Amino acid sequence: MRASVLRQAGEVRVEERPVPEPGPGQVLVRVGAVGTCGSDTHYYEHGRVGPFVVRAPLVLGHEAMGTVVACGPGVEDRVPGERVSLEPGVPDGVCEQCRLGRYNLCPRMRFMATPPVDGAFCEYVACDAHFAHPVPDVLSDEAAALLEPLSVGVWACRKARVGPGDRVLVTGAGPIGLVVAQTARAFGAAEVTVSDVSGPRLAAARRFGATHTVDAREGPLAGSGVRAHVLVECSGAAPAAADAVLAVEPAGRVVLVGMGGQEMTLPVSHVQNREIEVTGTFRYANTWPAAIGLAASGAVDLDALVTHRFGLAQVVEALTVGRRDPEALKAVVYPGR
Ligand SMILES: [Zn+2]
Repeated sequence: MRASVLRQAGEVRVEERPVPEPGPGQVLVRVGAVGTCGSDTHYYEHGRVGPFVVRAPLVLGHEAMGTVVACGPGVEDRVPGERVSLEPGVPDGVCEQCRLGRYNLCPRMRFMATPPVDGAFCEYVACDAHFAHPVPDVLSDEAAALLEPLSVGVWACRKARVGPGDRVLVTGAGPIGLVVAQTARAFGAAEVTVSDVSGPRLAAARRFGATHTVDAREGPLAGSGVRAHVLVECSGAAPAAADAVLAVEPAGRVVLVGMGGQEMTLPVSHVQNREIEVTGTFRYANTWPAAIGLAASGAVDLDALVTHRFGLAQVVEALTVGRRDPEALKAVVYPGR
């Protein structure tokens, strides 16, 4: 099969590799569509993401869907021909975090496109059958692939306990901010304000259900009158996060989703005096059923996030299109093309 391989920072090549054999409990999936993520771009440009360093050739791509073509030994609840969305992280299932239901925190998680685990910019992958979620026909291939970033949004809204009537502030209108805005509306938020520093991204936020937008270039959020019960920080920009925390109401919740630097300054007395909860998120757990429901019902529009499409030989273009086109939201790679 053909696979797009990151050899080292800045070097991607299409190589021939053997089609993997599905092991016990695994299915072999012919990959249909794969979304590109900021982390893929970061691996391509820098050869690492935080503590994860590319030391051996790595296949990128972890927002994937495809069709089951074979089942390994012991797989009884998947059948060839089924369309599946791949949950890219498979935990060990036995450690304390897993047993408590927090499998996203499993220290032995094997996550696609994270060294040393290959991703899905290739024609076939073998993956755990329980993490290959069947999707209904109403979902397009692209929507099925983008259930992964939607899961990030679902998890963030769950961590923030977004509920009916809430006023939600989302900083950063990239693909994650846009799915968070839509998910927050679906969870019952009355107002969703999205801030960004890009005109095209603010326009996208309005298309994707934001009730208000704030151009962060025009001044601090705190001075714009925004009062939020929930802040979902998706920009990864430390100054944006610190400014947005000042717009959070007493007993509000702050969830830090965006990844920026290692450290961030927060207005601690504001947090203390108002008993604001601040938490991080790491990927997601048990989100695919909700994500499938949100996308299948139309509550969340994933198809409209896709702005660019590429074949396997154009992975570099897919990873860098955001640098060239300010209208770019999500590029999808089709490994069969
Ligand atoms: Zn575990």
